[in-house]
Amino acid sequence: MKTVPTSILLCTMSCFTGFAAFAYPSTYNVIYDRISLTVNPALSAAITSGSVTTYFNTTAPALAQIGFDLDQAMNVTSIVYHGSALPAEDYSHAGNVLLISFPAAIAVKGTRDSVTINYHGTPVTPTTSIPSGYNRAQHSSGNYIIYTLSESFTGHDWWPCKDSLVDKIDSGVDMIVTTPTGYMVGGNGVLIQTTSGSIQISTWKTRVPIATYLVNFSVANYQDYAFTINTGLTSRTALPVHNFLFPEGNTTTNQNALNVISSLIPAYVNLLNTDYPYLKEKYGTAECTNFGGALEVQTMTFVASGAYTASILAHELSHQWFGDKLTTNDWHMIWLNEGFAEYFQYVIYPQQLQSASTALAARQSLKTSVTNTSTTVVSSIANVDNIFIPSSSLNQPYEKGAMTLSMLRAWLGDTHFYTALYNYVNAPGLAYNFTSVDSLKYYMQQQVQGLGFDLNNFFQEWVNNKGRVTYAVNYDYVKNGIYLNLVQSPTVSGQGHFDMPVPIEIKGTGGLDTTVVLIDQGGTLYNSATGAAFGSVAHFNLSGTPTSMTFDPNSVVLATASSMTQISTLPLMDIQLKAMPGAGVNLLSWNVTTNLPLQSFVIEKSADGTQFSSIGQQEAIASANGQYLGSFTDPDPGRGADFYRILALEQGGGQTYSAISEVNGTAAGPGALTVLPNPATGSFSLSIPATFSDHLPLNLVIYDASGQVVKMGQIPCGTPVIPCDEWAPGIYMVLLINDRNQRAYQKMIKK
Ligand SMILES: [Zn+2]
Repeated sequence: MKTVPTSILLCTMSCFTGFAAFAYPSTYNVIYDRISLTVNPALSAAITSGSVTTYFNTTAPALAQIGFDLDQAMNVTSIVYHGSALPAEDYSHAGNVLLISFPAAIAVKGTRDSVTINYHGTPVTPTTSIPSGYNRAQHSSGNYIIYTLSESFTGHDWWPCKDSLVDKIDSGVDMIVTTPTGYMVGGNGVLIQTTSGSIQISTWKTRVPIATYLVNFSVANYQDYAFTINTGLTSRTALPVHNFLFPEGNTTTNQNALNVISSLIPAYVNLLNTDYPYLKEKYGTAECTNFGGALEVQTMTFVASGAYTASILAHELSHQWFGDKLTTNDWHMIWLNEGFAEYFQYVIYPQQLQSASTALAARQSLKTSVTNTSTTVVSSIANVDNIFIPSSSLNQPYEKGAMTLSMLRAWLGDTHFYTALYNYVNAPGLAYNFTSVDSLKYYMQQQVQGLGFDLNNFFQEWVNNKGRVTYAVNYDYVKNGIYLNLVQSPTVSGQGHFDMPVPIEIKGTGGLDTTVVLIDQGGTLYNSATGAAFGSVAHFNLSGTPTSMTFDPNSVVLATASSMTQISTLPLMDIQLKAMPGAGVNLLSWNVTTNLPLQSFVIEKSADGTQFSSIGQQEAIASANGQYLGSFTDPDPGRGADFYRILALEQGGGQTYSAISEVNGTAAGPGALTVLPNPATGSFSLSIPATFSDHLPLNLVIYDASGQVVKMGQIPCGTPVIPCDEWAPGIYMVLLINDRNQRAYQKMIKK
């Protein structure tokens, strides 16, 4: 849904009484609905005749009753079950819930059955500021329209349904609307229209799972502005797009706005590498009176007169993936629908179809629209106004939700971000079903797992906590490098630390123009690209000497710099120690970034991680770029775990320990592993003894003669094939470690 704030001002605030509490949510699964309605917009808002047949599977044994949400304004005239009308005492309709008792309980769980509810009445129209429910209105030509906007929980105002976010209608809906001739009906799926005398029957069929609130229809004297487009991904080159416009709305201006759909669908499909979700049916729009926005009705967005802008159409179209294909399972987390749609409206659409300067302005506007006090989560869902009134100072599911996605993209980088989105929109169990924050988090986390990042705090803080952050930036420009220290302050105190990415653009001599992305995780700075920890001061080697920098140059994160202070004496001591198992030895390597002159390193070892003793000492020699590199081979690994640390001794007398690095392991003999062919050129395979691969997982480490790791990670058992065509010729050590910390290794030669 997209609302246009100006029109909201015209509405009056009023009370909404809330939504039906569904009585029996877990006792049946809705399979299919056939909804037959007779209406005449010219005469009244009444549904003069309604009939809804629901096919369902029981999800509990001995099901004696079934319940539907149905507003009291609807008058039930009969319930037909197995071909017979049930006696009136077998059903009750109170508190907006219709309860039906079966003549005999349905014994077996999983039984397919159906029931038909016949009814009529004039549906209520909610008086909330956010338009919702069943509406009859006059458009500017003087003709009337009837249309429904069932988000969030007003489907039951006009049809008996399960008005929930737990059960999609798996096999879709047939919506059969009988009207006088001269009308067209907008709806879900594919239209079949027949006329008999003065009566017209419009049947919309959709065969894709659909959430209750996305089932809608509209009736007006429409004209169809139709075209077909090539969606760009599959063999189907002609997706029909039907735009139902009032005769007075079928203008060149509106048509030109609608033409953006031809470019937008291929752009979204290309970006997500995922088809339009309803390729076998259609996309389209249907005009409604000026309710002040649009609603992402599945396969046919309902658009208010006056809301035909490329920007709103871009928002609504993205909902077909985010909202309709994957639907939030909780109205508190409406940002899973609206944050995405807002992101596509203000970031993706300008990025794909507009100029760079327009796109930057849109991102800046999105960033500044997030207040210093709001949350992404919606705190109250008591009525539709609480959920959807945008720019509330308390909850901003649209703006802050979009910026949460923007920050994920900055953290992951484009390749990983779009891979995560692809995995998310195509995930079995999520696609065409309901989704959750945990599900989104899972697919984002997958992309940073290998770098050691943890997104739990990111999601917790940015979804649930208030406000945004500022950073005091301390920095030092040095020859071909920069030191950065960032100190976070929240705009609302007591909200904890917001883990986040921080992009900084650096320009300088020799054409230096680069953007680095730091990850602030718990106050420790990390390199977003490598996962390496910097500590409190980050250091980057650069191709030139910096002369200027810009905090968040592209307006992609919810942070601003409160100060930028050049400090020439930032105390910096960052020691990265890595210890790893070798063939009969343990290998240590370290990389120290510091602006303090060092004297030497002491290498220390422990069997228990607490009692350390020295096993060697090395002189500290600074490399050309001011870093200190070192390595050490421990020829005597223990049968249990070995713990290592190094102590950096400063020339001035100070000293700093590294973090502890651990190696597990006892050694199995060499030769247990066979490398074929050996020597190898393009690739080689490993033959792993069964006794060794009984203890999964297997971790592979391959390093060259200098101890430099060229490949590392888990591999399957059997005879895995390792490509080596890009390795330099030379001798390599291939080492496997199983779950019992046994090692098998073999030298191989790359020709
Ligand atoms: Zn929306």
